[in-house]
Amino acid sequence: MNKVEKSKENLKKCICMKCPSYKLGCKMKAMPKNMMTMLKGNISELNHFEGLFCAFDKSNCITEETGCICSTCDVYKENKLDKLYFCTQTGGK
Ligand code: SF4
Ligand code: SF4
Repeated sequence: MNKVEKSKENLKKCICMKCPSYKLGCKMKAMPKNMMTMLKGNISELNHFEGLFCAFDKSNCITEETGCICSTCDVYKENKLDKLYFCTQTGGK
């Protein structure tokens, strides 16, 4: 698997927020920090982010796998990823 770049371009393309596994409670919890991160110019040094899970590690909140829409995401296609559920397992499964 290619290493996905931790970039704002990729962050904008990530569709995890629209995913059924990313429940409202987790979105609400992540929102303040995610908003602050989106305002940052450079995210390449960040250790964790609640989104763009294929570039970062797994989620601190999402545990239930109720569908993964990664395969329809541009980041997925551009990086030729072949796994799913990057939010429940670092590196995907
Ligand atoms: S492949 Fe999945 S985790 Fe990676 S950016 Fe796309 S939706 Fe987000
Ligand atoms: S990694 Fe897949 S399952 Fe997890 S939130 Fe993103 S699209 Fe949904």
